[in-house]
Amino acid sequence: MTQSQQDLDQHFITHALTLAEKAEQLGEIPVGAVLVDENNNIIGEGWNLSIVNNDPTAHAEIIALRNGAEKIQNYRLLNTTLYVTLEPCTMCAGAILHSRIKRLVFGAYDYKTGAVGSRFHFFDDYKMNHALAITGGVLAEKCGEKLSDFFKKRREQKKQQKLNQSDI
Ligand SMILES: [Zn+2]
Repeated sequence: MTQSQQDLDQHFITHALTLAEKAEQLGEIPVGAVLVDENNNIIGEGWNLSIVNNDPTAHAEIIALRNGAEKIQNYRLLNTTLYVTLEPCTMCAGAILHSRIKRLVFGAYDYKTGAVGSRFHFFDDYKMNHALAITGGVLAEKCGEKLSDFFKKRREQKKQQKLNQSDI
């Protein structure tokens, strides 16, 4: 991989991290995703909205793919790259497969539910008509910290709530 590609990958993962913050502000798990075309123009953006939208499928990746497909008015997203701050789950891996994107780049590995090698090997198991290029672990530490900070804060809030209840 060329240096400039590495720079680009870090640039777009950093952008996806700013979208993850939007999710966090809404109380959602902070995951963000960006879809770019072959000229590196952003055509889709997404962040987790499952709780807000009462939609178990509203993961950042799905939203970014829908957003991009709407924008280019095509259900196939050929020659695009999806950047996401966390390794996709099986549902999102399925959507990625159907979308026909060219490349997937993700940040942190998800050892509990990651479908791109950490927990499941979705793309290895699936015989695909065209190969999907995959790069994992881009700014993994930064992406992982955003999630672990979120869960830590949430645990503390829950603990505080319990303490407050016991005061009554
Ligand atoms: Zn997912």
